[in-house]
Amino acid sequence: MKLVDSISRMATLARMYKKEGKSIGFVPTMGALHEGHLSLVRTAKKHTDVVVISIFVNPIQFGETEDLDKYPRDIKRDEELARTAGADIIFYPPVSQMYTDGYSTYVFVEGLTDTLCGASRPGHFKGVATVVTKLFGIVKPDIAYFGQKDAQQAIVIKKMVEDLNVGIEIKVLPIVREEDGLAMSSRNAYLSEEERRDATVLYRSLEKAEGMTKHGEKDPKKIIKAVTEMITEVPGAKIDYVSIVDTKSLKNVDKISQEVLIAIAVYIGKTRLIDNIMVKPVPEAHSARKGLAV
Ligand code: AMP
Repeated sequence: MKLVDSISRMATLARMYKKEGKSIGFVPTMGALHEGHLSLVRTAKKHTDVVVISIFVNPIQFGETEDLDKYPRDIKRDEELARTAGADIIFYPPVSQMYTDGYSTYVFVEGLTDTLCGASRPGHFKGVATVVTKLFGIVKPDIAYFGQKDAQQAIVIKKMVEDLNVGIEIKVLPIVREEDGLAMSSRNAYLSEEERRDATVLYRSLEKAEGMTKHGEKDPKKIIKAVTEMITEVPGAKIDYVSIVDTKSLKNVDKISQEVLIAIAVYIGKTRLIDNIMVKPVPEAHSARKGLAV
């Protein structure tokens, strides 16, 4: 596995692989790697010849009061994990190379970025779309892999790739969870023992929502109410948002009549965690039969 900390070296390698006819799979991350990241690397390894994982804590996607400085960084540990998962290159450019003095170009995806996390974290997705565009330009992947954990991010990137004719295939892979259901996240490291227990409420509340839909509930307000109540019962938890949205437009739905994204963001102590689940309504005939049987 190669460790590459220079943009020009990475770009040269990418050009070389292209010339050799090799396909490049790419997994952009901010490091502090866990199974969620590694599942993306392993899948990339199955489908492409050369797998590049980038580790870059992107300052322009953090708000002023957010955790940029304390975000966990451990390149030695990440190196070992990435190697074991099958990465061929770790690309970790310094901030000074990515954002040179006078840097002034940004990518902004309208509409999809003013809801959910975009509403709570103004400028976040502009930072994400910009850095991903830059990384795509340097790494020149054939396929890039993202996690469903950051559902809105994946949708924003897909839209950006489509709108700007980037010509890269985007694959979105399932959320990897701890045994108790908590979605793996680098930020879970911030949690105290008690907070870690409290954090299970995110997935439990999503399971509750899924159960309600499976039993025929089609009113998003009722599901949001149940999820909100469940989270509010945990004293250390504070809701940022609980939303049920269309999986493409990310707009709130009035009725669950097709597949929807149930997305939540919750502060556990000072740590903001996100999670989501996609649910399909049960067919009308099925819920009607169920209604008769009661
Ligand atoms: P991050 O390092 O948090 O920016 O994440 C890098 C990539 O890994 C993103 O595409 C995330 O969606 C993905 N990812 C993070 N956590 C998980 C998880 N628990 N399961 C699957 N993918 C994940």
